Amino acid sequence: MESAEIRRRWLRFFEERGHTVVPSASLIADDPTLLLVPAGMVPFKPYFLGEVKPPFPRATSVQKCVRTPDIEEVGKTTRHGTFFQMCGNFSFGDYFKEGAIKLAWELLTTSQEDGGYGLEPEKLWITVYQEDDEAERIWREVIGVPAERIQRLGMGPNFWSMGVPGPCGPCSEINYDRGPEFGVEGGPAVNDERYVEIWNLVFMQYERGEGSGKEDFPILGDLPNKNIDTGLGLERLAMILQGVQNMYEIDTSRMIIDKATELTGVHYGAAHSSDVSLRVVADHIRTSVMLIGDGVTPGNEGRGYVLRRIMRRAIRNMRLLGAVQPTVGELVDTVIKAMSPQYPELAEDRKRIETVALAEENAFLKTLKAGTNILDTAVTETKAAGGSVLPGDKAFLLHDTWGFPIDLTLEMAAEQGLSVDEEGFRRLMKEQRERAKADAKAKKTGHADLSAYREVADTSGSTVFTGYTDYEGEA
Ligand code: ATP
Ligand code: MG
Ligand code: MG
Ligand code: MG
Repeated sequence: MESAEIRRRWLRFFEERGHTVVPSASLIADDPTLLLVPAGMVPFKPYFLGEVKPPFPRATSVQKCVRTPDIEEVGKTTRHGTFFQMCGNFSFGDYFKEGAIKLAWELLTTSQEDGGYGLEPEKLWITVYQEDDEAERIWREVIGVPAERIQRLGMGPNFWSMGVPGPCGPCSEINYDRGPEFGVEGGPAVNDERYVEIWNLVFMQYERGEGSGKEDFPILGDLPNKNIDTGLGLERLAMILQGVQNMYEIDTSRMIIDKATELTGVHYGAAHSSDVSLRVVADHIRTSVMLIGDGVTPGNEGRGYVLRRIMRRAIRNMRLLGAVQPTVGELVDTVIKAMSPQYPELAEDRKRIETVALAEENAFLKTLKAGTNILDTAVTETKAAGGSVLPGDKAFLLHDTWGFPIDLTLEMAAEQGLSVDEEGFRRLMKEQRERAKADAKAKKTGHADLSAYREVADTSGSTVFTGYTDYEGEA
């Protein structure tokens, strides 16, 4: 089943059951506490918090999401993308636990001929929050899942709160058993690669008080209106329904892998390290296109920096695969082809997306080679001095003059067995930001130019180089 069809079925199923279909919001969150949208519930937050009266009792959406913390997992685990689509159904004081569980089970297990996804019930494993007897009872008695396929988990994975006073509650997750080729048995509590999490059902039923962290807070009592928030990863379901080994091989991403192969001559499956690079490219270029599509431009702060990190990591991985010419144009074109059945606006906006992406590739390729030399020299010096930590000022120089996002430096240093003094790096970044602020004030220019590339001449050595600083004012 194609990704576009998974999406259609999702929306149709819930629409037929009284849910209002709400289009995906932009990845740029309309929420000062968030840089980018990480989950489907974000656009509905004001309803859950009781700040705005919901205009409908039930809603459904397929929301574009970006999770930067998952960047390290990409290409290594089989199931984390920096961009993914979260299919959700939401109830605002309408149906609750039993309703949500029944709907989820029906959609997953109804045959494909009858409009469902046709998963075999015996392959589905359930987790519930350790104290949620009610959810466990519903799974066993109403749905008929045998007790041995229901596991209880603690607060970390199976209790949801926003980290601030407000609604909170237990979760129940649906996991799919991919079989012994993915490792030992024992359910999702034991092996989360084999029993891959596909759908999280959040039961917002309590009011939490002030407290520190995610797990340490008082529960003040029941919410007057209990809500449902669920999220299913479209790409994870596609991986299962398309019978592929990991999320990067599904229809939409596979096209990008194949394009990268065409551009580099490196075949998928040739070696582990090149496979990881191909998967990183597929994931990151797709994320970049979706971000640019929603109006993010590369920069050194905030969202712009997220995009820059992701794009530059993709470009470097193309180099690792042997690309010598610019490749971003063709890769971007492939992403647009792959994603426009679901997002036709990408094709309409092709020119602008390409222009932004190509400018970033250009800027990076100008400095990549020289920066790599600087890094290699610094690594050699560090090792010669018996150290194992690359100094923060080197990371800063690479960032400031050679446009190396910190992740890139971390990754390249790690490849040579070194860690990086990140704290020192961050201190220098902060100092620079403060200097720039003072500077801007003195010159009464108000703001630093958002995207101008400034040429700097290094007068300290015998070589004169042209680097750039791209300083973006406070995001
Ligand atoms: P995991 O434990 O696998 O990291 P999660 O518990 O962080 O997932 P949730 O916050 O519960 O994920 O999000 C709901 C659903 O979104 C998940 O069940 C999964 O299907 C999907 N999902 C979450 N993170 C990613 C990701 N990085 N890439 C693809 N799908 C994801
Ligand atoms: Mg996660
Ligand atoms: Mg999880
Ligand atoms: Mg989860």
